Amino acid sequence: MKLLASKLKPKAFKKARTSTVVCPVEFGTYVIFTIDDVYEVGITKNSVGDDLVECDCRAAEFGNSCYHAAAAYKKHLMIARGAHERNLIPSLLDQDYLLQAEWLN
Ligand SMILES: [Zn+2]
Repeated sequence: MKLLASKLKPKAFKKARTSTVVCPVEFGTYVIFTIDDVYEVGITKNSVGDDLVECDCRAAEFGNSCYHAAAAYKKHLMIARGAHERNLIPSLLDQDYLLQAEWLN
């Protein structure tokens, strides 16, 4: 079930920070690794331009704010805002960003 990204709760973002690894498949599609499972989150826009998140976990099926979606959305915004400026390919992982930064220095 799709949820407005603005409905994601601060608690979800907090948990996302310490409990997930986010792997971008492409802009708007993210695979989320947690300690015991793997989820996929899609991010799209509705007709008025609001961001929508859709996770394939059980909680999200019932329209709840989950931390997988929060993790993906945070990455999505980061890529949307930053990757372009830094001339990096959006599909790169954070680790790769760091590695690249090391190479460049
Ligand atoms: Zn989820």
